[in-house]
Amino acid sequence: MTPMLADAAPRLPVIRRLPQNIVNRIAAGEVVERPAAAVKELVENALDAGASRILIEIEDGGRGLIAVTDDGSGMAPDALPLAIERHATSKLDDDALIKIRSLGFRGEALAALAEVSRLRLVSRPAGQTAAAALAVEAGRARPVEPAAGPPGTRVELRDLFFATPARLKFLKSERAETQAIREVVERLAMAYPAVEFGLVQAGKRLLALPACQGLAFDALVRRLGQVMGAAFAENALQLDEARDELRLFGYIGLPTESRPSARSQHLFVNRRPVLDRLLKGALRAAYGDLLFADRQPMAALFLELPPEQVDVNVHPAKAEVRFREPAMVRGLVIGGIKQRLAAAGCRTTSSLGQAALGAFGRPGGAGGRSWPRPGLAEAATSFQAPAPGPDLVPGPPAARPMDAAPPAEAAAADYPLGAARAQLHDSYIVAQTAAGLILVDQHAAHERLVFEQLKAQLAAQGVRRQGLLLPEVVTLQPAQAEALAARQAELVPLGLVLEPFGTDAVLLREVPALLAKADLAALVRDLADSLLELELASPLEQALHRVCASLACHGSVRAGRRLSLAEMDALLRAMEQTPHSGQCNHGRPTYVALSLADIERQFQRR
Ligand code: ADP
Ligand code: MG
Repeated sequence: MTPMLADAAPRLPVIRRLPQNIVNRIAAGEVVERPAAAVKELVENALDAGASRILIEIEDGGRGLIAVTDDGSGMAPDALPLAIERHATSKLDDDALIKIRSLGFRGEALAALAEVSRLRLVSRPAGQTAAAALAVEAGRARPVEPAAGPPGTRVELRDLFFATPARLKFLKSERAETQAIREVVERLAMAYPAVEFGLVQAGKRLLALPACQGLAFDALVRRLGQVMGAAFAENALQLDEARDELRLFGYIGLPTESRPSARSQHLFVNRRPVLDRLLKGALRAAYGDLLFADRQPMAALFLELPPEQVDVNVHPAKAEVRFREPAMVRGLVIGGIKQRLAAAGCRTTSSLGQAALGAFGRPGGAGGRSWPRPGLAEAATSFQAPAPGPDLVPGPPAARPMDAAPPAEAAAADYPLGAARAQLHDSYIVAQTAAGLILVDQHAAHERLVFEQLKAQLAAQGVRRQGLLLPEVVTLQPAQAEALAARQAELVPLGLVLEPFGTDAVLLREVPALLAKADLAALVRDLADSLLELELASPLEQALHRVCASLACHGSVRAGRRLSLAEMDALLRAMEQTPHSGQCNHGRPTYVALSLADIERQFQRR
C-alpha cells in the first residue's frame, strides 16, 4: 500500500452561494440570448398589461437601444423596484404553474435585462396624473424618482450585453439582428390583431401595423395580410376545427403557394408564438404529397386548449411547449388541415403501386438502390447524341449542335434512355429502351437540366439575361424586399437585375433567359426566402447553387403539362448529355428503369 502524502490529498471542493448578480446573469444568458429575445420579453409584458398600442424603437440592431412604449395598465411607483427583482411577478396566481394565461409568468425578464444592460423604467398607472422612473446601473437600482410620461410604461435598454462581452461576440450583423427583431414583433402582432404595433430603427420606420378591428377572423386575416403579404391573405383557406377541448383555427396556404422553407409557418399555442416540432411536423404531414418533398406550406395557425393541458414552462424563452396529449393535437392538426384542403378541391396524387415500384431500380443512390444494369448509367451520362432543340429543353452545358433536327421517332435501341412512347398523368414519360423501359418524372428531370445549365453559365461568364419589355413590380413582405435589395449586386451574375421599389416590392428589369417564361413573381418570392434562409452566410458558391436550384424549379416544365412525343424525346436526349441528370436538384431520382428481365420475373415467365 502506498502511503498517502499529506500534500497530495485532493483539496476538498468549497461550495459557495453565487452572488445574486451572477445568478441573474446566468439566468439572463438563458432568457435573452440576443436582442430579439429582449424585445420579445418587453413586448410580451406590454401585451400582458393590456396595451392597445406598442411602439418599439431600436438602434444598432438592438445593441445600442431597445425601447418599448405601451399604453397598458402601468405600474405604481412602489411596484417598480419589485418589477426588476428576480422571481417577482404579478401574473402567477396559481402557484402550481398549471394554469398560465399570460405570456409571462416567471418574473425573470426584467431582472435579467437589468443585469445585462442599462435599464430605465418609466411608468404611469392608468388614472394617475404622474409617472415614476427607476434606473438600474450595473445591477444596482437607483431610488424611484418622479417623472413625466403618458399613461402606460416605457422600458429602455441601452448597451445590451455590455456586461457580458462573451455574448456580444456571438451577435450577428446589425441587419441580421434587426431582422430577428422584426420577426419577433411580427409574430406577436399576428396573435394580437387588435393591437397597433410600430417598429422604428434609428428613426426609420420598419413596421407600421395599425390596429385591425372587426370580428375575429376579419381582424386576423387583415393582420396576416399586413405581415405575410396581401397575396397570402387573399388566397389562404380559413380553418376552424374543434375536437373536445381543443380548437385549431387560422389560415393555411394553398399547395400552389408553397415556399422553399418553413419561414412562413407561424404557429401559436394559446396565443403564444411557438417553434414546435410536433406542430410543424403535423402541418407538413397534412399536406402530404400535395407538395414536393422539399416544399413547405404557408400557414398561420392558432391552437387553443385549456392551460392545464399544455406545459409552457419547458424552455427558457418559452418558445417550446409540451402537450399533455400530443397524439390528440397531432390528430387535430393533420385531420383538420387535410379535410380543409380536400374541401377546397386539393387532392393528393395517388402513388404508384408499391409492388410494381419494388421492381424498379433507380439511378443514383436514392434509397440505396442500385441501377439494375451496371454500365447503363455510365452509358447514359457519357452518351453524346445529337440534341434536338424544341425550346422546351435547354441545351446541355457543352456546345450543342443547334442545327440537328429532332429525329422523327427515336429508335429505342439508339439511346440509353430510349424512345418516348407515352405520357402518363401528364407527369411521367414512358420510354422504351433496348433492355426494358424507363419512367421519367418530367418536372424533376427538366429541373435538373435547367439547374445544370444555369450552373454552367454561371461558371462561364454569368447567366444569360433577358430584359423584360415592361419591368415587373413584384410585391413582397418587407423582409423579403430588403433581403433582395441587400444582395442586388450579387444577383446580377445570376441573371437577375432588380431594384428596390418602396419598402415592400422590387422592380424586376432583367431575368435569366432560361427562365423568361416562368412565373416571375413566384420566382422572386422564393428567391427572397432562400436568401433569408442563407442569412447565416453559407459560402457564396453554395449559396449561389442553392439560388440556382430554386430558380430552376420555377423554370421547369411542371408536372401536369402535356408534352408531344418530340418534346419528350428532346427531354430524354438532353438528359443523356447532362451531368447528374439521374437526380433532380433535391436528390430525388428523375427517372426509374425497369428491365425486361424484371418484367418477365414479375409475370413469372422466368
Ligand atoms: P413576468 O412578465 O414573468 O411577470 P417580468 O420580469 O417580465 O416578469 O416583469 C415583472 C413584472 O413587472 C410583471 O409581472 C408586471 O407586473 C410588471 N411589468 C413589467 N412590464 C410591464 C409593463 N409594460 N406594464 C405593466 N407592468 C409591467
Ligand atoms: Mg415578462
